Amino acid sequence: MSPTDGATSSGVGEPLLTVRGLRKSFGDNTVLRSVDLTVERGRVLALIGPSGSGKTTALRCLNGLETADGGTITVGDDVRLDFASAPSPRALATLRDCSAMVFQHYNLFPHKTVLENVLEGPVVVQRRPVADVTREALGLLERVGLSEKRDAYPFELSGGQQQRVGIVRALALRPRLLLFDEPTSALDPELVGDVLGLIKELALEGWTMVIVTHELQFAREVAHEVAFVDGGTIVEHGDPAQVLRAPQHERTQQFLRRLL
Ligand code: ADP
Repeated sequence: MSPTDGATSSGVGEPLLTVRGLRKSFGDNTVLRSVDLTVERGRVLALIGPSGSGKTTALRCLNGLETADGGTITVGDDVRLDFASAPSPRALATLRDCSAMVFQHYNLFPHKTVLENVLEGPVVVQRRPVADVTREALGLLERVGLSEKRDAYPFELSGGQQQRVGIVRALALRPRLLLFDEPTSALDPELVGDVLGLIKELALEGWTMVIVTHELQFAREVAHEVAFVDGGTIVEHGDPAQVLRAPQHERTQQFLRRLL
């Protein structure tokens, strides 16, 4: 399935996602101090940074799974949320509709089959016709080599297979933006390559993506831009080769040194 709002449609090079001054606290723990980022249509942004720096929270705010306390999120020309005041449930639903999330632990419904997991969002939430969605879902499962598992339950699949279902489930929502939260960090090492390969294919097809990842080699290969997050703010961002090989900021240098 081709990207819903990616590089292959009009508007290449225009921002699809713009975030300004995003703030989020849990009680007195300020997790996002002020996050600014822009992702153009058909481009891939990788978020890297130490554990606890706010990457997942930022992603969840983009998807409306968490409600930011301040700042703005704009998607395309038509969706703009200003968190200076609490957004209405309707505005949050509009934001949620823009993107689909792929989770670290897959988050499949354990009591539903593979196909039922994929159909749930498009049919129940988006109220699209079952026959159309089923046809599309079967095509997507075939693409990722899981046609034969359509009636299996998540516990019958390997982690890599579950994550491929997680990606198919996200694609079936026809989102404008794909969000990945450490999509391979729960996988056994030998299963990581398949999932990263699939994400790379989607990037080459022109899907617009934000990926939280510890896979720096993957970020270098696939992302158009890398942002280093620390202490709830983006400390440094830019071309992957530059940020990962010759970081300007001391905190980025320290983080990368620890990983080498
Ligand atoms: P990262 O993805 O960079 O590891 P997170 O966004 O997961 O960072 O977490 C940042 C901080 O926010 C941590 O201190 C974490 O404990 C806190 N946090 C995240 N989600 C919640 C929540 N739902 N309730 C309370 N604290 C949270």
